[in-house]
Amino acid sequence: MHFVVVGNSIAGIEAAIALRNRDAHARITVVSYEHDHPFARVSLMYIFCGQLRLEDTEFYDRDLYARMRFDRVRDLVVGVDPAAKTLSLKSGATLGYDRLLLAVGSTARRLPWAGAYDAPGGVHHFVTLPDLEGVNAVAKPGMSCAVVGGGLIGVESAEVLHLRGLKVHFLVREPWYFPVALDKAEAEVVAEHIRHHGLDCRTGTPVDGFERRDGKIVLRLPGEELPVDFVVGAIGVVPNTGFLVDSGIALAPGGAIETRDNLESTSAPGVFAAGDCAQVTWPDGSRRPEQIWYTSRDQGRAAARAMLGDDVKYRRGTWYNSAKFFDIEYTTAGFIPFAAKPHKHQGVGAPGEEGHWQTWYQQLPGKAVTQRIVVKDGRVVGFNGLGTRWDHQVFMRWIHERRSLDYVLAHMNEARFDEEFMEPFRVLPTATLVDGA
Ligand SMILES: Cc1cc2nc3c(=O)[nH]c(=O)nc-3n(C[C@H](O)[C@H](O)[C@H](O)COP(=O)(O)OP(=O)(O)OC[C@H]3O[C@@H](n4cnc5c(N)ncnc54)[C@H](O)[C@@H]3O)c2cc1C
Repeated sequence: MHFVVVGNSIAGIEAAIALRNRDAHARITVVSYEHDHPFARVSLMYIFCGQLRLEDTEFYDRDLYARMRFDRVRDLVVGVDPAAKTLSLKSGATLGYDRLLLAVGSTARRLPWAGAYDAPGGVHHFVTLPDLEGVNAVAKPGMSCAVVGGGLIGVESAEVLHLRGLKVHFLVREPWYFPVALDKAEAEVVAEHIRHHGLDCRTGTPVDGFERRDGKIVLRLPGEELPVDFVVGAIGVVPNTGFLVDSGIALAPGGAIETRDNLESTSAPGVFAAGDCAQVTWPDGSRRPEQIWYTSRDQGRAAARAMLGDDVKYRRGTWYNSAKFFDIEYTTAGFIPFAAKPHKHQGVGAPGEEGHWQTWYQQLPGKAVTQRIVVKDGRVVGFNGLGTRWDHQVFMRWIHERRSLDYVLAHMNEARFDEEFMEPFRVLPTATLVDGA
């Protein structure tokens, strides 16, 4: 059996390892274009800042391919023929497979402005290693730039460009920063913190278009023109599946690979998808890619089992994630409603909208530290924490144990990391408990 895995990031490499652990004799080929070794894409910002070298972010020893007896192909896949079971590579070579995993991840969503990519330079992104090289080559201290789009990639790009000594305009279209994860009060804490660092952080600021003028990029904002040396577009990511458009492998409208419950393509037997490029079922029944690190890992492992013939049904467990907004730690676990679209959520298996919802919230006075706990029918179902390192595993245990708010508030200190640096948790007299999620 010849297994071919395209993509050596978290989804692809975890699948390849899982295949080898179960099948000592199979031929396993891993194809990728970006780097010889798997690296942590989530650490791009530290590489840009020089705090880490690319090799510091490699999450397996460099002898992994030799130990696992993977064949390495460093090339770009430009076509797939599922009927002939072959891949076409940019180098002109062809590669056959028996079972194929597409773990090709995401690429930056392109800015929708006419002419944005017609001339070289001026418009950059921050998702792949070539993106990083592009920004690295252009960004010089003293320059000005605009980061357009207020998600995790946007805030990381803004931070590293600020640290390099550029004047950064951070332009967020939504009324507050990161509304898919933060409510208004939390987002204001983050935005204030960013401004405190000296960035021009503007919410409710759509960019209508741009023009190139006198070597500058001039952005059209409501009632104003903003000239900058370059722009970083951070308006989300899209599945990296352009090369599959005419392949017969079914793609969802957003470009992700349509999969069955076992992550096999709905249209091409023997072809599987995992990670950012796979269309999967969310707890609320909607179908979209998940596009985060740990679900990509889990999908890679599940896809490997399906490729080996196991009866697999991929379902994400309880949601969790962590990140940083500048130096504000962010931890989330369980059900946190999308503040901008309360009917959508990123939480534990579809709790439905019926029931008695409550939100407990507090902010430490004068500090960028908040805690939000979502309660349904007296049971805690979700956490959002800013400014403290929390152990999401403890939060998830409480969610699964269906703990009450009183229990959780009495035990919050058990979920603290770095106890020696952090103030103990305590309920403040200003804490609120209101109806509604
Ligand atoms: C700046 C940044 C910060 C992030 N921060 C977080 C975070 O804090 N928390 C979090 O959960 N997630 C974060 N993410 C998202 C996370 O990195 C992704 O969800 C995860 O990397 C997806 O893994 P993947 O294996 O599906 O694909 P990717 O990591 O996108 O890798 C795709 C792989 O496919 C290869 N490839 C693609 N196309 C081809 C082709 N045609 N031919 C050959 N090879 C190909 C690439 O070389 C690469 O090996 C962040 C992402 C970015 C960009």
